[in-house]
Amino acid sequence: MSRPDVKWIPASPQNQNDYRDLAIDSIVCHNTDGSLQAAIAQFQDPEAQVSAHYIVARDGTCIQMVLEAHTAWHAGDRTMNHRSIGIEHVADKNNLGMTPEQQQCSLNLIGYLVDKYKIQKSHIYTHRTVDTMAGGTDCPKWIWPDEVSFEKFKETIA
Ligand SMILES: [Zn+2]
Repeated sequence: MSRPDVKWIPASPQNQNDYRDLAIDSIVCHNTDGSLQAAIAQFQDPEAQVSAHYIVARDGTCIQMVLEAHTAWHAGDRTMNHRSIGIEHVADKNNLGMTPEQQQCSLNLIGYLVDKYKIQKSHIYTHRTVDTMAGGTDCPKWIWPDEVSFEKFKETIA
């Protein structure tokens, strides 16, 4: 599968490692819980200590903010950060689920990454299932309220 068109908007170098300790074998899916502009601003804020490789906007635009060869800080788990690509999807309590354009872009991007890195479908995760920080997270509940809905989405990946 070919690489989807992406718009490059770099995250702050302070919010990532410019290397990986592990080979890429996983994808972690997120929702932004806020607007696209807020997510971009957060990843560009050198104090934020958070980033993701990609953001899929509600109009179907795919934005890349961290190089795949770099470690983005999104999973709430150091090991998972080093072995995964993090994909944010713009959604919040007033914008539930994905738009059709957004879903198409997400499927194209995930299909491309699965093909490129030979990622097993069992290694495509929701943030909440990999986070090991105190308190955990319910991300990405605005798109996938439970793992059953996420498994259904995964069935549509080429
Ligand atoms: Zn998340």
